[in-house]
Amino acid sequence: MKIICVGRNYAEHAKELNNPVNDKPVIFLKPETAPLIGKLPFFIPDFSKDVHHEAEIVVRINKTGKNIEEKFAHRYYNDVTIGIDFTARDLQSELKSKGLPWELSKAFDGSAPFGEFIPKETAMRDGAIKFHLLKNGAVVQEGTSADMIFHIDRIISFVSEYFTLKIGDLIFTGTPKGVGPVKSGDLLEGFIGDKRLLEVKVR
Ligand code: MG
Repeated sequence: MKIICVGRNYAEHAKELNNPVNDKPVIFLKPETAPLIGKLPFFIPDFSKDVHHEAEIVVRINKTGKNIEEKFAHRYYNDVTIGIDFTARDLQSELKSKGLPWELSKAFDGSAPFGEFIPKETAMRDGAIKFHLLKNGAVVQEGTSADMIFHIDRIISFVSEYFTLKIGDLIFTGTPKGVGPVKSGDLLEGFIGDKRLLEVKVR
């Protein structure tokens, strides 16, 4: 199983980190050791003093595919959820400033918790998936797939030119604005619509 992630997919978030908006999706990978298993807490790694939450819609691939045309991409996923692309922002800034890959700051153990999957039809309201993240009970991020620069079908089509998509692969589709630091003791809760699908305790 591989985890494919999209960066800078919401204009307002690209702006908050002073990043340009690209004409192609920004793609990186996380390994199969990145999800949090069961109800385990997320442990802030020793190498960072500034780990941020990035709440994102997560798509689960249900069919093997390569060079998928955008108009057929909807056939390659049924289920979606909300996940967190945990990012060691201090380390990422250092790597970015040196022109180096981001993986050490984004692909570490526990960096990709995701919630319970629901059918995409259940997740959609008026053609879009609305989601939000609570930190200690307060809304910190709120988004809708309608604001994505590259929509889910476009992402599936684009990444399948490079990587064969396999059953069970996950795509983290990018975060809206409102990213911010987490500290030990925080409770993060992820929702699609009014469905609470994800809970992560930070330690
Ligand atoms: Mg992200």
